Amino acid sequence: MKKNIENAYKVSILTLFPEIFPGPLGVSLIGKALSNKIWDLNLINIRDFANDKHKSVDDTPYGGGAGMVMRPDIIELAINSISHFPGPRICLTPRGAKLTQAKVKKLSLDEGLVLLCGRYEGIDQRVIDYYNFEEISIGDYVVTGGESAAIVLLESVLRLLPNVLGGVDTLEEESFSDNTLLEYPQYTKPREWNGLNVPEVLTSGDHGKIKSWRDKKRVEITKIRKLDS
Ligand code: SAM
Repeated sequence: MKKNIENAYKVSILTLFPEIFPGPLGVSLIGKALSNKIWDLNLINIRDFANDKHKSVDDTPYGGGAGMVMRPDIIELAINSISHFPGPRICLTPRGAKLTQAKVKKLSLDEGLVLLCGRYEGIDQRVIDYYNFEEISIGDYVVTGGESAAIVLLESVLRLLPNVLGGVDTLEEESFSDNTLLEYPQYTKPREWNGLNVPEVLTSGDHGKIKSWRDKKRVEITKIRKLDS
């Protein structure tokens, strides 16, 4: 279903590497939704706002230490260039609150979002605080740049927009959808593979029994995974 660009979910990304996008967001259902203007991508290259001949965007950290830090004054110019763009402002950082499905759902209900991607040792904290960026992490590990974290966040949010997956049925029993339980295991053809059979109940045609089996598996797998973590 094509939409008018004005109604599209507006994604703005502040990055030093705009060429990374849309990347995986340009294929399959989310890519199709981009072509159909269900969502819209606005890339802002932070380096375009650098004002010296070397196009510098970073400098050494106050207090010493390895690496470089992205400068607040350059990022400020980039942010000001999109002050009219809607949605919450999010900075991707390992220091942030961990992304959850509940947060993803909330973000999908907004008009769009603005993502700030860090590189090097990260971003000067003053610009994050001054512009009220919410700090979000994709997990307790460090990747090279905020762009891959932005892609993870966007994949999870964009698939929840109306008319992206082509129906809501598949979302209801998904892992985390009710905030507690993981999904049951899935099987498809062939019925027997390498000596392993699909659980008999799933081929019984008895929808009541299938539902109770799946409910039981959801509880079991959630218990095991929560004990693991
Ligand atoms: N010096 C930082 C630290 O120790 O927390 C790591 C900086 S990391 C090499 C560069 C950028 O990658 C960060 O500014 C952030 O934008 C992004 N990044 C790395 N890991 C992330 C994570 N787990 N979640 C979200 N963003 C992450």
